[in-house]
This record gives sequence, C-alpha cells and structure tokens, in this order.
Amino acid sequence: MEEPVLVLPGSGPEALANLAIGCEACRRCSLSAGRRNVVVSRGNPQARLIVIGEGPGAQEDEAGLPFVGRSGQLLDQMLESVGIDSNRDAYVCNIVKCRPPDNRKPTALEMAACRPWLEQQIALVDPQVLLLAGATAVEGLLGIKGGITKLRGQWRAGEGTSLQGRWLMPIFHPSYLLRNPSRERGSPKWLTWHDLQDVQRRLLQLQAAS
Ligand code: SF4
Repeated sequence: MEEPVLVLPGSGPEALANLAIGCEACRRCSLSAGRRNVVVSRGNPQARLIVIGEGPGAQEDEAGLPFVGRSGQLLDQMLESVGIDSNRDAYVCNIVKCRPPDNRKPTALEMAACRPWLEQQIALVDPQVLLLAGATAVEGLLGIKGGITKLRGQWRAGEGTSLQGRWLMPIFHPSYLLRNPSRERGSPKWLTWHDLQDVQRRLLQLQAAS
C-alpha cells in the first residue's frame, strides 16, 4: 500500500464525488498499474439497496462503470424482473475498483487495500440491504470463504461499524449464471430469481416499517 486513504468529510453527493476523486488518484495496490479507468459506481446514491460485485472486467474498465458487460446486463434483467431498476433503485459497486489482470480474482491484499473505499461508499449511501454478487464479494466484505452455493439465499444481519443494522444477501455471480443458463426449477438461475424476489420483499417490508 502506498498512501493512506483519507476518511472523507461531509455527506451526500458531494462526499461521494470526493470519494470518486480519491479513488481515481488511488495507488494503494498494484491493480492501479493496469487500469484504464477506476470503476467506482453507478446507480442511485440514495438507494436503499447496494449491489456489490467482485471487480471490473474489461468492459467495465473501458467504460469506467461497474456491471455493464454481459454479466451486468443479465443482473439488470434479473433485477428488473422483480421490479428493481439497477440505476434507479440500487447503487452498484465492486470490492476492488481497478481491474485485476486477465480477470483474475483480486488477492486478499488487494481487497484489503480497497476496503476503506467500499466502507465509505456503504456509510455514505447508507443502504438497508446489500446484495453480494458472488463468493469474492462475500469474502471481500465479510471475510467468509466458501462455496457460494452454500452461502447464497441466506440473509445475514450486518455486524461491525459499517454493516450494523443492514441486511446482506449473497447470490450467485451473474457470470456464473451466464455459464449455467438453464431456468429449470432448482437451477442456479432459478434460485437467484427467488433470492432476488426475497430481496425485493425485504426492501418493501423495511420501507413499510420505516
Ligand atoms: S483497487 Fe482499490 S486500492 Fe487498489 S489502486 Fe484501485 S482503488 Fe486503489
């Protein structure tokens, strides 16, 4: 790690804009060397839902936006099918903001280096629900290693400073669903659709209770 990440003052859109500027200048890990763009976020900073993926792929690196490639399009379609518009109703980001070479999984050091940025995003957006797309998102945020098949579909109550009072739902990563396109009952896609329905139900319940 080269320089400390500042805890950025303020709140709301200005603080998120400052965060983006900080990310763009960040060289805390070696992923900075190969990036075309730092990929910070897309969507609604006032959303009650945050979607967190692993890291940018080639198209995201090119566009400077998360989840805009094929897997992002699939995720958007699946969210839309349960009534969630990913740009209107969600704030979308990743565990690491710079593209790992050859789309490899980010290392533990890279995830740790980037974590302060993610924690600040969560604090500033202040979501009620976090959707963790794939095993690396679960590992990067919760430190839990393991098969996503066992972790998905189970609500977790957030713990610790940045997650207390929030609900977390792990799901299959959409790139895995692209490789497993069956929609049959019990298939990964079918399970994910049910997980997303559960997320939408939870959001509506939380909204009704607030
Ligand atoms: S991945 Fe994160 S910590 Fe590493 S250089 Fe990019 S913004 Fe900084």
